[in-house]
Amino acid sequence: MTIGILALQGAFIEHRMMLNRLGVNTFEIRQKKDLNQPMDGLILPGGESTAMGRLLKDLDLLEPLKQMIKDGLPVMGTCAGMILLASNIKDDKTVHFGLMDITVARNAYGRQLSSFYTNDLFNQKSIPMTFIRAPYIVSKGDHVSILSTVDGRWVAARQNHMLALAFHPELSEDLSVHTYFLEMISSSS
Ligand code: GLN
Repeated sequence: MTIGILALQGAFIEHRMMLNRLGVNTFEIRQKKDLNQPMDGLILPGGESTAMGRLLKDLDLLEPLKQMIKDGLPVMGTCAGMILLASNIKDDKTVHFGLMDITVARNAYGRQLSSFYTNDLFNQKSIPMTFIRAPYIVSKGDHVSILSTVDGRWVAARQNHMLALAFHPELSEDLSVHTYFLEMISSSS
C-alpha cells in the first residue's frame, strides 16, 4: 500500500512517520508531477488552510486532486485538511475541495482554548487528541457519520471514503486513527 501525503505546508512529516511505523510506503506531493505516482490513499495534513488552499491552486494541484478524490481515492484530512475537504466554511465564502458534506468553523475554540490536549473516543475507543487552533464541525449531511464528539462538539467524521479530523492524530504515539484509515482503504478497494 502506498499513501501520498500533501507536503506543501504544515505537519506532513509526522504523518509519514506514523505510516512508516505501520509499514506503509509514503511519498510527498509537492508538485503536479508527483501525482503520476500511484497511490492508494491521500493525506491532507494540518497547517494553515488558507495558505495550503492558495498553494494548491498556484501549483495546479487543486483540480487534479479533487477529481481523484471524487473518483474514489480514500482521503484523510486532519485539522486544516478537514477544512480543505469541507463543502462549507462558516462565515467564509472560501471552498477548497468542497467534497465532504460538512460545515466547519475555523479557529472555533476561541483564543484561550485554541490549543489543548485531551483523551476521548474515536470510533468508540479512547485515544489521545491534540487540538491546535482547531476547527470543528457545526453541521453535516445525513450520510456523514460522526466518529468523535468532544465536549459536545463534532471533531471526527466519515463520509464514504473521506475521513476528517479536527485534531492531530499524527502528534501522539497512538496509531488508532491511521490504522482506521488503512482499514478504510482496504475495505474500499
Ligand atoms: N487554524 C488552521 C486553519 O484554519 C488549522 C489549524 C491546524 O491545522 N492545526 O487552517
